Amino acid sequence: MDFSMEYEPQDELFAQEVREWIKENIPKEYHLFRDAYSITPEQWEIRREIARRLGKKRWLLPGYPYEYGGCDMDVSHMVVLKREFEKARIAHPPHYDSAVSLGAPAILATGTEEQKKRFLPPVLAGEVHTWQLFTEPEAGTDEANQQTNALRHERDKEYFVINGQKMFVGCWRGKPDYFLLLTRSDLQAPRHQNLAMFMCPANLPGITITKLDLYCADYVHSIQNVISDNAPGQKNQVFFDDVRVHQDYLIGGDHDGWKVAEATLLVEHGTAGPRDVRTPPENYVLPKFIEECSNNPDIAARIRENPLLMDNVASYYISNQVGRLWQIRNFWQQTNMVRAPGRGPQLTLYQKYFGPAAAMNLARVLGPYALIQDDERALLGGSYEALIRGSSLLAPSGTPEAQKIIMARSLGIGR
Ligand SMILES: Cc1cc2nc3c(=O)[nH]c(=O)nc-3n(C[C@H](O)[C@H](O)[C@H](O)COP(=O)(O)OP(=O)(O)OC[C@H]3O[C@@H](n4cnc5c(N)ncnc54)[C@H](O)[C@@H]3O)c2cc1C
Repeated sequence: MDFSMEYEPQDELFAQEVREWIKENIPKEYHLFRDAYSITPEQWEIRREIARRLGKKRWLLPGYPYEYGGCDMDVSHMVVLKREFEKARIAHPPHYDSAVSLGAPAILATGTEEQKKRFLPPVLAGEVHTWQLFTEPEAGTDEANQQTNALRHERDKEYFVINGQKMFVGCWRGKPDYFLLLTRSDLQAPRHQNLAMFMCPANLPGITITKLDLYCADYVHSIQNVISDNAPGQKNQVFFDDVRVHQDYLIGGDHDGWKVAEATLLVEHGTAGPRDVRTPPENYVLPKFIEECSNNPDIAARIRENPLLMDNVASYYISNQVGRLWQIRNFWQQTNMVRAPGRGPQLTLYQKYFGPAAAMNLARVLGPYALIQDDERALLGGSYEALIRGSSLLAPSGTPEAQKIIMARSLGIGR
């Protein structure tokens, strides 16, 4: 069976337009990094600028309605756009911007018309940078257990006063303009009906951001394609101390927070997102790995000496292909509007298991040179090391157990 994703002849014209746009608009200094830690603040600014240029062209979230800053692009054009960026080895934004990736679909699905008109255009223009602030010390897998209070001010009723703490959030590059902020807005109402979501300005008095230095490098699914742009090496804690935020920054109403959070989580878990297609990414690592096994004399000798290593090669190859088939299946279902609520967590769970197993296979076959970043000796420019280090990162977007719980619920079993 042929699963290659070739263009139709009519797509070639648009592909040409995208290639020309990339040539004219994306500076040479922009290239993919083997490790998120190596991106400098200046390179981060280039990424911000690319998002702005794409926004100006209405190509940041091109499937969105024209009135909010998209251009109502159809699926086949969106696929061409993403593929051309990939072919040029450029990660299409958002670069760790939670309003573009998660906030926009939630605002579109749950916001009032007035809120959509206010929040979406700057986000789709790439003008603002937003962090997702959901997780707290006591609210990770149990996301609804929010302890950060946003309570209406006793006198100035149009203001909320926010107190609490968020952790494992944001990224270390650049300053955020907004927080997509989940809070508890009612101390009496039942669970899930007691939450409010804000697009909260990040510069309000009473907000303190402190860095959390984590050892992890990259999301586990990047082990297939060395795209480190989204990598959250370092995260942050954010403290709210009597922060006053106006009700204009609410998404939905005072008690709609869970509805908005669910809309973002559906997208984050890979189940929804009809206006933003998730194309199966090009796998850059597999062909390099196979080439290394065949043509690198040291590695070929390792395999000859220990034929059991062939099992690791085969296992890595097969699990890559299985992952790609899941991705193609999900892509097909998404673009054909097939309702299958468990498909996103199913793929995410697979990737979370695949990552550590893949890292083990790579490390065994390639040997110690896979574990160094040394410019001269490291294999694939040190990318293997970053991939192996990142493969243990299981928590973002929910732990494996959380994925199983979501799947069970979508199948109607469990709680
Ligand atoms: C690198 C990184 C990036 C992140 N980025 C963000 C971000 O941008 N924004 C944000 O809001 N959050 C972010 N997070 C937080 C992430 O979403 C949480 O870490 C994740 O949801 C798990 O929550 P927790 O860490 O509190 O672990 P817990 O929920 O305390 O879980 C601890 C362990 O218990 C298990 N467990 C918990 N509940 C159950 C259950 N009911 N059944 C079975 N097992 C269970 C878990 O699977 C896990 O193994 C990030 C985390 C990391 C590490």
